Amino acid sequence: PLVLGIETSCDETGVGIVQGHTLLADTVASSVDLHARFGGVVPEVASRAHLEAMTPTIDRALKTAGVTLDDLDAIAVTAGPGLAGTLMVGVAAAKAYALALGKPLYGVNHLAAHVAVDQLEHGPLPKPCVSLLVSGGHSSLLLVPDVATDVRSLGSTVDDAAGEAFDKVARVLDLGFPGGPIIDRTARTGDPASIFFPRGKLDDGTYDFSFSGLKSAVARWVEARERAGEPVPIADVAASFQEAVVDVLTRKAVAVCKAHDVDHLQIGGGVAANSRLREMAKQRCDKAGIRLRVPRPGLCTDNGAMVAALGAELVASGVEESRLDIPADSSLPVTVVRV
Ligand code: ATP
Ligand code: MG
Ligand code: FE
Repeated sequence: PLVLGIETSCDETGVGIVQGHTLLADTVASSVDLHARFGGVVPEVASRAHLEAMTPTIDRALKTAGVTLDDLDAIAVTAGPGLAGTLMVGVAAAKAYALALGKPLYGVNHLAAHVAVDQLEHGPLPKPCVSLLVSGGHSSLLLVPDVATDVRSLGSTVDDAAGEAFDKVARVLDLGFPGGPIIDRTARTGDPASIFFPRGKLDDGTYDFSFSGLKSAVARWVEARERAGEPVPIADVAASFQEAVVDVLTRKAVAVCKAHDVDHLQIGGGVAANSRLREMAKQRCDKAGIRLRVPRPGLCTDNGAMVAALGAELVASGVEESRLDIPADSSLPVTVVRV
C-alpha cells in the first residue's frame, strides 16, 4: 500500500511516503534551531512551526515521491506519545486530508513507528523480535511478536530516558543542544575507560533502566574538577559517560533476547543513531548469536517515513482504520499500536 505518514510529536515536522517496505520520500522540516537558545524544545514555538511547515512539507514529499494525493491508499499520523500541542497539529492535518480525499486514517504510536521503520531498510521484521527503543523520552525493552498488532513492554526507564541523559550531560559539559550527536562526536577523541561512571540497575534482574544517577555522577565529577581548579577533560568525560549508557543498554538487550529465546534484536529511536551503541551492540550480538537490525541514523531520529512505514504495515495486516474523531494522546502507552 501507498501510505503518507505525518510526524509532529516533537520539533520535527516529518512527512514520509512509502509503498509497502519501499521508501519513496522522507521530508523533514525541523524547528530545532528555534529551540537551541532555550536549551530544549519549547512546545508553543514547535506547534506554530509545525502549522507553518505542514502543507509545504507534504507538497515536497509528494513531489519527491512522484505521486499525487489521489494515488494514496491511506494517511497515517503520530497520535502519541509526544507533546500535546504539537501532536494536535499533525492529527488535525491528517484528519483534514483523510476526510477531503476520502482515504482511511491511521492514528499510530510514535514508539511502534520507531520500530516499524526498520522494515524500510531490512525488510519484514522477524516475528517475534526484541526491540531496544531508546529515544529522547523513552528507553524500553519490547517484545514484538507483530509490530502491527502486538507490542509488549518488558522493561523501561524508571527515571530519565537515555536520550535525555545525553542531552543533560551535554548541558553539564556546555556542549549545546541536542546533546546526543555532540557527545557522540566529542567522545570519539576521548578514552571511554578513563573514568568509571555507575551503571544503574545493571545487575538487578529486571529489564528496567535508570540513568539519573549516572547523570548526577557526571555532574558531581565535573564540579569537583572545577572546584579544584583543574581542567575538565571533556572528551574523556563524554566517552566514559557514553560507555556507561551503552554498556547497560546492550547488556540488558542481549539478556532479554536470551531469556525469551529470540534471535533478532532491533534497535530504534534517536539514540540508536549513536555510533558506540551501534558498535557495541554489534559485538555483543555477534558473540551471542543474535542478528542485529539498526536503521541508518537518519531513520532513527524522528521522521515521517517511520509513521508511513507503520501505517503501511497496518493496512497490509488488515487492521481497521481509525475513526475521524481520534484524539492526540500525549501519554499513549507503547502497547497501543493504533488508536
Ligand atoms: P520519543 O521518541 O521518546 O518521543 P523524541 O522523539 O524526542 O522522543 P527521538 O527523535 O527519537 O526523540 O530522539 C532524540 C534523542 O536522541 C535526543 O535525546 C538526542 O540527543 C538523541 N540522539 C540523537 N542522535 C544521537 C547520537 N548520535 N547519540 C546519542 N543520542 C542521540
Ligand atoms: Mg528531535
Ligand atoms: Fe521519537
